[in-house]
Amino acid sequence: MSRSLVVGNWKMHASQAQVNELLGALKAGMPALDRIEVAVCPPYPYLMQAAHLLAGSGIALGAQNLAVEASGAYTGEVSGPMLGDVGCRYVIVGHSERRRLYGEDNALVAQKFRAAVSHGLVPILCVGEQLAEREADATEAVLAAQIDAVLELCGDEALAGAVIAYEPVWAIGTGRVATPEQAQASHRFIRDRVSRGGRTPTLLYGGSVKPDNAAGLFAQPDVDGGLIGGASLVADQFLSICKAA
Ligand code: PGA
Repeated sequence: MSRSLVVGNWKMHASQAQVNELLGALKAGMPALDRIEVAVCPPYPYLMQAAHLLAGSGIALGAQNLAVEASGAYTGEVSGPMLGDVGCRYVIVGHSERRRLYGEDNALVAQKFRAAVSHGLVPILCVGEQLAEREADATEAVLAAQIDAVLELCGDEALAGAVIAYEPVWAIGTGRVATPEQAQASHRFIRDRVSRGGRTPTLLYGGSVKPDNAAGLFAQPDVDGGLIGGASLVADQFLSICKAA
């Protein structure tokens, strides 16, 4: 892993005016991108606008979801080739909100991961346990099942070269962040499970990352960056987190 990676997940937020304002502020305040890599994931309707605004900035573009299919009669869906066509490098796959609210199970997430890779996108695979699972000491079993579904469908190599975001569900949007030690333990588990033949994934922590807790998380040996929700919508906060990476 060479550079740290910080990704903003805007979820279902923003307007054209806010995209202009936020990306203008990020471009103006971004630290040098030789040591870190930064990407933002706006909602679909703003991807083209963001691609134009980010051209030449070094900040990469990603989407929040994709269809399994490449094209066809799938009303309401957006495919990997379309995302590549409008300038996306990354796509988030299997975010806990998709799993929980839209019924995406491990098998479907694995298919989306495979679709992303086959269309030249870098998937950011989200994994993480619910609070009850952590309390029942099932964190590693949950992570293993989420990861193994992708390993089985896509193979070791695809996962070893991917981005994986560890996002404990109890930490997302709650202000209750994992401790650096909790994050490190899960990241170590994930890295051990998927590294192959010298290849190792880029591991992001996500869940209530803020300017005041980012440095402690990023200092952990197996935390290679962050997937940032709420704080990615506030330019000063996102810039501070990028500087901490
Ligand atoms: P949060 O979201 O930073 O607002 O907790 C993280 C995410 O859902 O990716």
